[in-house]
Amino acid sequence: MTHRVAIVGAGPSGFYAADGLLRTNPDLHIDVIDRLPTPFGLVRAGVAPDHQGTKAVVRQFDRLLAQPDLRFAGNIEVGRDLSWDELGEAYDAVIVATGMVIDKKLGVPGEDLPHVWGSWRFVGWLNGHPDYRKGPDLSRVERVAIIGNGNVALDVARVLAKSADEMAKSDIVPEVGAAIASAPIKDIYIVGRRGPENASFTNNELAEMGRLMRAVTVADAKGLDAAPLATGPTPEKLRKTKNLQILKDFAANKPGSKPVTLHFLFNAAPVAFAPGEVQLTTGKLKADLVITCIGYFGEAFPRREDFFAVGWAKRGPTGTIPTNRGESHAVAKQVIEWLETRDPKSGPDILPAAVDAAGWHRIDKHEIALGSSVGRPRVKLTDWQALLDVAQGS
Ligand code: NAP
Repeated sequence: MTHRVAIVGAGPSGFYAADGLLRTNPDLHIDVIDRLPTPFGLVRAGVAPDHQGTKAVVRQFDRLLAQPDLRFAGNIEVGRDLSWDELGEAYDAVIVATGMVIDKKLGVPGEDLPHVWGSWRFVGWLNGHPDYRKGPDLSRVERVAIIGNGNVALDVARVLAKSADEMAKSDIVPEVGAAIASAPIKDIYIVGRRGPENASFTNNELAEMGRLMRAVTVADAKGLDAAPLATGPTPEKLRKTKNLQILKDFAANKPGSKPVTLHFLFNAAPVAFAPGEVQLTTGKLKADLVITCIGYFGEAFPRREDFFAVGWAKRGPTGTIPTNRGESHAVAKQVIEWLETRDPKSGPDILPAAVDAAGWHRIDKHEIALGSSVGRPRVKLTDWQALLDVAQGS
């Protein structure tokens, strides 16, 4: 008899956990369950569509899908198709890799107005997530306010600021790409509630904002001089110091010198939204569209001794994809130690009919073929039924 482990969530933290388990015990049976018919979680639905290099990580996850004792079970929703308790009863251990999939709220008046979007919904829309097929009408959007000073804010600003040519090799949903390219966007504001020294941007992602073809990036030099310089050799201080230098370079740019101006505003917290504007602690800012990029919540799952969380479900919505590798491997080690003290459970296979790895590969092949006909890496299927039909080979 062999132990059976369920991993709920087929994103990077789930796959790194599977990798960690199989490196130590190649005989384990592992089921990787996901509510979507497609694997790879945030790599598919969250990583910006123009960052194809980052998405290349899926090649190593795809190799895991080819392992004989690892089964992908897509289109299975825990809570709908089977319960957490049923999983706990049937499997020797359950790894919870469900991420965080709910936009955090600011809790200020006007947040529910139709021009205010959370980044989860917005990024899901442009990345083709089948749950988020309706996006904002961009046809009259001239000014966009993006709330938050993390890499998600940069992703959103960059994708809105880039030209159609710059997005040509991306896997953005084509209709969304066309809507962005034809929108009359002139100004994009990235708004931080604290000073530039507290922004959580990473250096490469921030520097990239200075290399956009249709957008010039500007920042207020006064605010940057006032920011205390982070000194010292720790990676965190070096990151901050480099960020301040990049922002100072942006301060030398001339607003309006390209069709789109991308402004960094600091020390400005949102206090309310009204149609066409954001009220900040520093005054009113006109904005036809607001996207809040302020973090996420996860869905609840039971805390039991045989349930082990990984990734954002464990530590919250921070860290890049590689952060998960070491952390998920460490949790996999704990799971192995746990299993060593227990006999394998016996019992029937409880998984309902699912999209398996072969079904996912049919979707993958289909999307890549659609993409190659238009010179893109892929064109995603965005409709649930279309995904299921292609997975079934119909
Ligand atoms: P983040 O880095 O934590 O940034 C969240 C931002 O929201 C912070 O600036 C935070 O400000 C602000 N915020 C939170 N609550 C707020 C409020 N009530 N009012 C105003 N501002 C508020 O998170 P993220 O951008 O969502 O990214 C999540 C993780 O994914 C990060 O680790 C990020 O590096 C990673 N990621 C990486 C990439 C990449 O490598 N290319 C791309 C996307 C995401 P305070 O600092 O003041 O709290």
